[in-house]
Amino acid sequence: MPSISRRLNHFTESIIRHMTRLSDECGAINLSQGFPDFNPPEELMDAAQRAGREGPHQYAVTWGAPNFRAALARKQTRFMGIPINPDTNIVITCGSTEAMMVAMMTVCNPGEKVIIFSPFYENYGADTILSGAEPIYVPLHPPDFLFDPDELRNAFLQRPKALVLCNPSNPSGKVFTHEELEYIAGLALEYDTFVITDEVYEHIIFKPHEHCYIATLPGMFERTLSCSSLSKTYSITGWRLGYVIAAPDIINGARKVHDFLTVGAAAPLQEAAVTALNFPDSYYETLRAEYTERRNMMLKYMDRIGLLYTQPQGAYYILVNISEFGWKSDMEFCEWMTREIGVAAVPGSSFFHEPVNNLIRLHFAKRIETIEEAGKRLCRLKERV
Ligand code: GLN
Repeated sequence: MPSISRRLNHFTESIIRHMTRLSDECGAINLSQGFPDFNPPEELMDAAQRAGREGPHQYAVTWGAPNFRAALARKQTRFMGIPINPDTNIVITCGSTEAMMVAMMTVCNPGEKVIIFSPFYENYGADTILSGAEPIYVPLHPPDFLFDPDELRNAFLQRPKALVLCNPSNPSGKVFTHEELEYIAGLALEYDTFVITDEVYEHIIFKPHEHCYIATLPGMFERTLSCSSLSKTYSITGWRLGYVIAAPDIINGARKVHDFLTVGAAAPLQEAAVTALNFPDSYYETLRAEYTERRNMMLKYMDRIGLLYTQPQGAYYILVNISEFGWKSDMEFCEWMTREIGVAAVPGSSFFHEPVNNLIRLHFAKRIETIEEAGKRLCRLKERV
C-alpha cells in the first residue's frame, strides 16, 4: 500500500475537538471547545430564516457577497479606525480557521519560518506545517504571559517570513498592550516580516483592557493579514463566516488560495449575517458586559474551590493550575474529570510548545445556569482527587 503524506506525522488530531467528542459521549458539561450554549440574537435567527426561504442558495462571489463585504467594511472601518475598502481589502472565508490557513499559504514559501507565541491555539502549528513553513516558538511566560523582548528579537534574527499574533489571546486570555504591539511592529518593520493576526475575540475584552488592532500601527497595514470571524462576536460558530483584511496585493493572492480551497462561504448565511454587521454599538457593549458577568462567575467558583488561575483580560478562557492534584498527565486528568466530575476541559499541554502539564483550560461562553452547574460539579474536585 502507498503511505499517506508525511506532513501528517507532524501534528496530531485536534485535542480540543477530541475533548468535545468525549464530553458528548459522557454527557458532561462541555467547557472544552469554546462555543456558546446560548442562541445568537433573535434578529439574526429571523434573518437566517428569511434567507432560508428567499435565498440566495447558489454560490456567492468567491471572495464574499458584495453586500456582506460592504457591511463588514463599514463595521471594521468603525472599529479599526482606518478605511477598509470592501472591494480591495477583504476576502470572506469559511471561518477564521480557513482565514488563517489562507493567510499562511498566501505569504509563506515551503521552508520559511513563522514565529508563534506559546501557548497558542493549536491550529497554528498545523497551519504552518500544511503550508510547508516551520514554526519558531517564542514563550509567553506565565503567570503574566509576557514575552521577553530579547527572546523575540532572537527569533526575528532567524529571518521569519511571518509572525502569528492571537490578540486577545487563546488560551491565556492575554490582551497585548499598545506598547507590546509597538515593539512587535517595530521588529516586523525592521526584519521585513508579515504579521498574521487571529482577532476573533476582538469584542470580548474586560475593562480596563482595550483592543488595539496591530494593522492600525504606522506602516503595519501593508504587512498585516488581519484574520477574524463572526463566530464569537455574534455567537454563530457553526455558520463558519470569517475573513482576511489586508492590503490589495495581499488580498489578490489570498483570494486565489481561498478560491481553490473552498470556493466560498455559505451564501444564505452571508446574506443573513449582514443583519449582525449592522448592529449598533450598544450590541458590543452588552456583549462585553455579559461576558464580564460570565467571567466573574467562573472566577468566583475557582476562588471558592481554591484553585489558582490566570485572570483573563480578554477572550473567554481561563487557565487553571492543577499541580496540587499531583497527576502526571494533564490529558488523563481531563479525561478523568470529564467522566467522573462531568465537566470537560482542554489539557494545557495541547497549547504549549514547552513541556507544561499542570494547567487545564476551561471556557465560560455558557449560560449563567450552565456555569453554576459546572461550578458546583467542580467543587467536588478536591474531595474526589
Ligand atoms: N477556538 C475554539 C477553542 O479554542 C474552538 C474553535 C474550533 O474548534 N474550531 O476552543
